[in-house]
Amino acid sequence: QAKTEQKGAYRFFSARLGNELADRLTLEQSIRVGISRHEFFLNYQPKVDLQTEKIVGFEALMRWRHPSKGIVLPGEFIPVAETTGLILPLGRQAIEMACSQMQRWHQAGLGWIPVAVNVSARQFNSDHLVKDILAALAKYGVPSSVLEVELTESLVMDDPVIAETILLELRAIGIKISIDDFGAGHSSLASLMHYSVDCLKIDRAFIQNSSTEIIRAVISLAKSFDLQVVAEGVETSTQRDMLKGLSCEIAQGYFYSMPVTAEEVPDLLLKFSGTNPLEILGDDY
Ligand code: C2E
Ligand code: MG
Ligand code: MG
Ligand code: MG
Repeated sequence: QAKTEQKGAYRFFSARLGNELADRLTLEQSIRVGISRHEFFLNYQPKVDLQTEKIVGFEALMRWRHPSKGIVLPGEFIPVAETTGLILPLGRQAIEMACSQMQRWHQAGLGWIPVAVNVSARQFNSDHLVKDILAALAKYGVPSSVLEVELTESLVMDDPVIAETILLELRAIGIKISIDDFGAGHSSLASLMHYSVDCLKIDRAFIQNSSTEIIRAVISLAKSFDLQVVAEGVETSTQRDMLKGLSCEIAQGYFYSMPVTAEEVPDLLLKFSGTNPLEILGDDY
């Protein structure tokens, strides 16, 4: 009895493993095809100044217009893209699309709207990153000061010396660097302070689950190191009020807006300014 059960369990187990492997191969293949057919595109979520309630920039978030599944979110393809190395061409497309979009908004009279692009570990350590960014900026005539990269700390930790070299190169170009998902588990404020970064993004889970006192401590420590602080995943007015009270500068989250398509950005800018989109970003940009 036990033996047949075991055998059955084994067969079930191996079939499931086989399916998972097959699924992954299919996914890898369709990501590859998707890249060549330009099925990936960017949505944009505003970063809002908590004091003025104005948009100060956007984070570019990748989406996949899958031929049969419809719109697919990053959680379903970024991990596979990372393990297979497809994140390299995909990440290059993201940087390219962001710069091209910034040029289009600029040509439409919206000024240079700051955009942050997510960069994953493989990309960061590929030694193409700086070249790719420089090429995209040049191709679309985008000033480096309006491009930002978001990195998670774990990727920087792999080889701190090389990481610091790349970070310094990016900064020398004039690109803003954010540490993403701070407080999500793999980051520590202590080691973070060794790196040349400009901004700390506090993870959604941290904002939603930590006490006000802990969030206050993180914000004040970050500020003592001259880092700008962005709160991710702000969903309620209570959270907004709390963060504003703690002098957090910038917030991002569904409370303000979901990520939107590039076409929806001008309307969103209008909605937040109530006036001319050109006045939103101020003279700095
Ligand atoms: P992330 O960089 O931390 O981006 C924030 C994620 O939180 C986004 O999920 C966003 O849609 C979501 N979000 C924003 N506000 C709220 C909120 O108020 N509540 C909740 N529950 N969620 C909120 P998304 O778009 O699914 O992206 C997931 C992750 O995928 C990103 O996390 C980023 O790590 C990665 N990713 C996205 N685009 C790219 C890309 O172009 N390249 C790379 N390497 N990674 C990317
Ligand atoms: Mg991010
Ligand atoms: Mg994040
Ligand atoms: Mg996150």
